[in-house]
Amino acid sequence: MPRTIYLPFDQLHRDFGGLKGADPARDQILMIESSGMLASRKWHPVRLHFLLSSARHFADELRLEGFTVHYLSEPSIESGLAKFHQEGNPVIAAEPSSFSQFQRLQKLGVHFIENDFFLTPRPLFHKWAAGQKTFLMENFYRAQRKRLNILMESDQPVGGLWNFDKENRLPPPKKYEWKPYFSHARDDIDHKVAKELGISIDETWATTRAGALAQLEYFVEVHLPSFGPYEDAMTTENWALHHSLLSPYLNNGLLHPQEVVNAAIRKFDAGEVPIESIEGFVRQIIGWREYINGMYWFLGDDYRNQNHLAATKTLLPLFTDPAKTKMNCMKENISDIKERAWVHHIPRLMILSNLALLTGTNPQEFLDWMRESFIDAADWVMVPNVIGMGVHADGGKMMTKPYAAGGAYISRMSNYCKGCAYDPKLRTGDHACPFTTLYWDFLDRHRETFVKNHRMRQQYSGLDRLSDLPEVRLRAQEVLKGLSSGEI
Ligand SMILES: Cc1cc2nc3c(=O)[nH]c(=O)nc-3n(C[C@H](O)[C@H](O)[C@H](O)COP(=O)(O)OP(=O)(O)OC[C@H]3O[C@@H](n4cnc5c(N)ncnc54)[C@H](O)[C@@H]3O)c2cc1C
Repeated sequence: MPRTIYLPFDQLHRDFGGLKGADPARDQILMIESSGMLASRKWHPVRLHFLLSSARHFADELRLEGFTVHYLSEPSIESGLAKFHQEGNPVIAAEPSSFSQFQRLQKLGVHFIENDFFLTPRPLFHKWAAGQKTFLMENFYRAQRKRLNILMESDQPVGGLWNFDKENRLPPPKKYEWKPYFSHARDDIDHKVAKELGISIDETWATTRAGALAQLEYFVEVHLPSFGPYEDAMTTENWALHHSLLSPYLNNGLLHPQEVVNAAIRKFDAGEVPIESIEGFVRQIIGWREYINGMYWFLGDDYRNQNHLAATKTLLPLFTDPAKTKMNCMKENISDIKERAWVHHIPRLMILSNLALLTGTNPQEFLDWMRESFIDAADWVMVPNVIGMGVHADGGKMMTKPYAAGGAYISRMSNYCKGCAYDPKLRTGDHACPFTTLYWDFLDRHRETFVKNHRMRQQYSGLDRLSDLPEVRLRAQEVLKGLSSGEI
């Protein structure tokens, strides 16, 4: 009897997960396009296209290798899997990447093998986290550097420091020649999927292993050397700056993090990448990405429902319609998201999440919107990033203080404020930047929660020095009203 390997659409790698050691002479492959899953949310069409087209390309590649691939269109994963179980076939799969999928497949009697799509096995992360008082990413990252022996000289970090964050916080450069981004030619499968979804597609995202590898190579050659210094910068002149645009492929399996790290380190070893760029990039892959995935499993399925700041405001209209705001930064980012389903980590954190945090937007509503907006929006990565990092809804379990910031930060790190209707330096009056007003109002409203947090001492002494707090409070009410009615 053949072994059936069930291949979810986020495990598309020949050498990892269910396919590790698979043999066309012994194994058959089951892939299921579930209409229930596709319709379960208002997914961004760019994400849907990416996932479906990648899966169909991957199925064809497996067929070329000689595998029998059953690629089913079914109402649900359950109905697809039931067909195979009825025939008495044992079904195996790598452990799923989300709680809900894990529970569903477990109920269906799928036999799990270890999920090795990360560099850190789940039990190993659990052991680390269980031994921590606070879950500082920096501590995890240093342990990863040692454990994986990456950028190490015996037990010391290459370059003498663990952290080059200080070098990596430059604002966007002026008069800079941004390097072009890679484009991916479309084929028949891409066009067919686009037609089925009723959308038109551009050449931003690859949908094949070869395309993902080409993107990796291009990033390492062209962008990695300058990745570090500008990784936090935002500019209307270039939508991706020096970011890698690799998250979709890392998350659907077309690339494995080990391959990405190896390619980056090779370039560094050849003397072509400065330490601040390689350290900054390695930190993202072996640090942040692994930490977020580990925390997702460590914190449990219920973590997504936290709302420690009792934030109840409904999602602002500007999140779905950029015409509903005069704030340049929001307009730019929401328009970019509509076009490509992507903006980099600083807009996600310091613009989108920051606004949700400062306005007291319900965390779960915001989480839903985030999941429906990005190409790389897997559950395991969105939940901790939004609930823990973005809107501090977990009472500080993950991050010791909220990432709250006023217009001054956005003005320093971007060119969005140039020509904006609002002035980041003003906190009251019709032209006050909503971020600036709401930032002070947020600190004021949550004084009791945060005033004793020693990492926020400076922020609270700033608040205590404000002479116009009553006016700020009044302006904050106007801003919240204006944002809700789409007039600010
Ligand atoms: C509120 C919020 C929501 C986010 N949602 C997602 C998401 O749904 N999916 C997702 O993949 N990333 C998410 N991120 C992390 C990060 O913003 C994206 O991974 C990154 O912008 C993707 O672009 P890139 O590949 O060019 O990344 P680069 O800047 O080139 O970074 C390289 C890689 O590092 C990894 N990485 C860096 N930071 C994180 C992080 N915080 N969590 C997980 N991986 C990280 C990603 O795999 C990324 O591809 C989120 C961050 C925040 C603050």
